[in-house]
Amino acid sequence: MTEKQSIYEVHDPRFRYLTVGSAALDELHSGCRWAEGPVWFADLNCLIWSDIPNERMMRYSQDGDVSVFRTASQFTNGNTRDRQGRLVSCQHGGRRVVRTEIDGSITVLADRYQGKRLNSPNDVVVKADGSVWFTDPTYGILSNYEGYKAEPEQATRNVYRLDPATGDLTVVCDDFGQPNGLAFSPDESRLYIADSASSHDTKASRHIRVFDVVDGKALGNGRVFCSLDNGLPDGFRVDVDGNIWTSAGDGVHCFAPDGTLLGKILVPQTVANVTFGGPRRNRLFITATKSLYAIYTATTGAGFC
Ligand code: MG
Repeated sequence: MTEKQSIYEVHDPRFRYLTVGSAALDELHSGCRWAEGPVWFADLNCLIWSDIPNERMMRYSQDGDVSVFRTASQFTNGNTRDRQGRLVSCQHGGRRVVRTEIDGSITVLADRYQGKRLNSPNDVVVKADGSVWFTDPTYGILSNYEGYKAEPEQATRNVYRLDPATGDLTVVCDDFGQPNGLAFSPDESRLYIADSASSHDTKASRHIRVFDVVDGKALGNGRVFCSLDNGLPDGFRVDVDGNIWTSAGDGVHCFAPDGTLLGKILVPQTVANVTFGGPRRNRLFITATKSLYAIYTATTGAGFC
């Protein structure tokens, strides 16, 4: 039995201990075309996110100011930070994963696999050992709206692991319809990966799979972690207790580590991605179609971005 409570849907009593009942959903900015890729910079007290079709990146400061962070962003989608604090981004336009150095220059981390161009890297996460894991669906080459229309050169839509020390790029999974968001469990023993293939095939997957991380480098024992009952999973994040906070059609869905749906935060627009931020890492930033939203929670994001 689902209990409705203002902007929350409580499906399990545990959800009340993860949320603040009196907290409001704040719309911090609007005017994007497709907001994605939020990443928190605690040292700068700001959030950076992507506005993919407008080919720009935006910045929200904790004091409320919103400004353009980067123009001509090459249709940047997902963002994260590496262990040195550098911005790591997926670019549809360049069909590559790049790192912004502290002097502002751009280093290409990966743009080809076995001599062929990547599809359009979508989302990225950096493991504690510095390895860069990213997904490579075809969304950015399907049309000229979020990139440049092109035929894929890769036979499959892969999930990759990049070793930054050697530059070796390896496929860790190749059987996704459209791999999308990804995140490690707090202890990095598991990797969660969304499959958003239902975006173009209603019969296809709209679930998050979970894998065991084997020797820190490979994936095994893949199984379906959860399926969404509204919309599809794009980007998501994990809190300190291992709960998954994922984008969905009607808002943000929160799943326990055992896959139980704990509850939802209802958002007026389709959600693409989320991240925890704020000085105490207890504020969930939500990129949802045209707008950036935020809501304070009773939990804390795992990691630092
Ligand atoms: Mg995505």
